[in-house]
Amino acid sequence: MSKIQAPVIKNEYYDVTFEDLTHEGAGVAKIEGFPVFVENALPDERGKIKIIKVKKGFAFGRLIELYEESKNRTEAPCPIYSQCGGCQLQHLSYEGQLLFKKKQVEQVLTRIGKLDLHKVKVHPTIGMNEPWNYRNKAQVPIGEREGGLVAGFYQKRSHDIIDMERCLIQQAENDDVVQAVKKICEKYGIRAYNEEKHKGCLRHIMVRYGLVTKEMMVVFVTKTADFQQKNEIINEITAKFPQVKSIVQNINNKRTNVIFGNDTNVLWGEEYIYDKIGDVKFAISARSFYQVNPEQTKVLYDKALEYAGLTGTESVIDAYCGIGTISLFLAQKAKKVFGVEIVPEAIEDAKRNAELNGFTNAEFAVGEAEVVIPAWYNKGNKADVIVVDPPRKGCDEALLKTILDMKPKRVVYVSCNPGTLARDLHFLEQGGYETVEVQPVDMFPHTTHCEAVAWLELV
Ligand code: SAH
Repeated sequence: MSKIQAPVIKNEYYDVTFEDLTHEGAGVAKIEGFPVFVENALPDERGKIKIIKVKKGFAFGRLIELYEESKNRTEAPCPIYSQCGGCQLQHLSYEGQLLFKKKQVEQVLTRIGKLDLHKVKVHPTIGMNEPWNYRNKAQVPIGEREGGLVAGFYQKRSHDIIDMERCLIQQAENDDVVQAVKKICEKYGIRAYNEEKHKGCLRHIMVRYGLVTKEMMVVFVTKTADFQQKNEIINEITAKFPQVKSIVQNINNKRTNVIFGNDTNVLWGEEYIYDKIGDVKFAISARSFYQVNPEQTKVLYDKALEYAGLTGTESVIDAYCGIGTISLFLAQKAKKVFGVEIVPEAIEDAKRNAELNGFTNAEFAVGEAEVVIPAWYNKGNKADVIVVDPPRKGCDEALLKTILDMKPKRVVYVSCNPGTLARDLHFLEQGGYETVEVQPVDMFPHTTHCEAVAWLELV
């Protein structure tokens, strides 16, 4: 076979029209059919690009000049947008972002899921009325500059920490506490951890905020247990921020990019803060997984509950249940819920949360969904409805096969990755299910993350 020659040359300039956006938010232009990916370019725009890298079937380019702007282009409001990399879509209007996410879901459902969009209703993405200041958790690396500490973010593709006062997608309360804590630590001479020398003390500050309860938690991630003047630091924080209910230290002595270590101690106050999603209350510890956009989480879970179509007589499985958030939402309307999750601490939290809310109809098991659920089925158990909310890689085939054997009348699939959602829907369709509706929900405005919930019926 002859080698196909790329029609573009590195360091050369080309005039192009952008046709599409990748899932990572880069503009796509085709040069003689050869795709070139360019950051900060939008569909329908025309411009001059420079080719910076040529790969086997595609190339990367840099935008040099825009000749024609998309009507969906907008000025990114964040002054550090281009340095940070935390958001990828601020230059696209919010309306444009919601359309992009719906289109992304439709594309993969057709291409990977082989679904007929005349039969499956993909709804417009449900966005936020105010798509800013939504994150309830700030996790900031700490560094040093002459005379003080910096708290902010790693510059794109580097480990240099840039100081940041405001993150526009963060709850303002979190930014206020991070800034104040940084100054308090500076005042008491706390040294930042130095990655290269593996020396110093403070690695990260994490702040969590309960949107409904307004309770806050501060977590110090330090290299060792030794944390000088911590009592003075705690006194200043609690005097300034009465809403802080919990101050925690996590110790991470490893040379690693992983933020947290294994040891966590409460320095002051409670081990948990509380928050509510709808009518369900959750205890959140320093290490608990909790959805970062609680307002949209309620929208997503309400949709999952609607799609589950519960009348009070059903037994329901919630696979990949985390701390039991969806399980407890379902428990409000189901006869019985059985949650399965691989992280033991999350299952402890799930049980505690069930008790906290007085649910006696929710049971939880630790283990891999693809092992626990087949074993449960082999013992003669059955569910009327199965809800799955897997990580990005989607469901294990063994779990999907068990669903096909068990034949629950409905499956609700909550997904953070449209590609694996489409793959798994295809598998279930081949086995006798029909996808009825898919609802994208924007959980992470201004980023390319795309969440969707699908409803399938046994036919
Ligand atoms: N439904 C929860 C969590 C979803 S995130 C919520 O909405 O908050 C996906 C979860 O799947 C994580 O908690 C992760 O720990 C868990 N997980 C990953 N692989 C798993 C597996 N093979 N079996 C069971 N749980 C798994």
